[in-house]
Amino acid sequence: MTEPRVLLSQQAIEQRVDDLAREISEDYRDVDNLYMLGVLRGAFIFLSDLSRRLSIPRRVDFIALSSYEDESTTAGAVRLIMDVRAPLEGQHVLVVEDIVDTGLTLEYLLRTLGARAPASLKTCVLLEKPERLQVPVTIDYLGFTIPDEWVVGYGLDYADQFRCLPYIGVIEPKSG
Ligand code: IMP
Repeated sequence: MTEPRVLLSQQAIEQRVDDLAREISEDYRDVDNLYMLGVLRGAFIFLSDLSRRLSIPRRVDFIALSSYEDESTTAGAVRLIMDVRAPLEGQHVLVVEDIVDTGLTLEYLLRTLGARAPASLKTCVLLEKPERLQVPVTIDYLGFTIPDEWVVGYGLDYADQFRCLPYIGVIEPKSG
């Protein structure tokens, strides 16, 4: 497969993550211990960069959901395959997600976590593809809006490849 075409450079991502971290630190300055919840696997790099830039007390946890299986097409159904370690009741929860495509994953997650009576529940999403959205979801902190193309790098994959690229690039999915 050919090298992905750069859509968002490493520098552009770093700058945006800095801005998001500043905004989040400011908004949660009076919160005791922000519960950052990363969605595996795509958000692992974004979450690690973002969490290290915050200037407020925070903890980090992960959740895993069923996702696309070695294909760049949506699977539709979403399933929880790994849950959080602590009860979310009374916690200020910030869900950190790599990308909102159809919105089905985040919508499912917000419904599921919202039922656990957190003190607050917000979302921080690195990328959104508005053209693909099927269900409305609230993104409280957004990195970038991108066109309807399959992107890889900075945690995002195609068939489990390209996750560790320092930039976000576009690849052409195999046809057929
Ligand atoms: P949604 O439920 O359709 O919004 O999809 C969310 C999930 O699909 C993300 O967390 C990613 O794992 C995956 N996904 C959607 N679009 C892309 C892409 O362009 N590159 C890599 N993963 C993607």
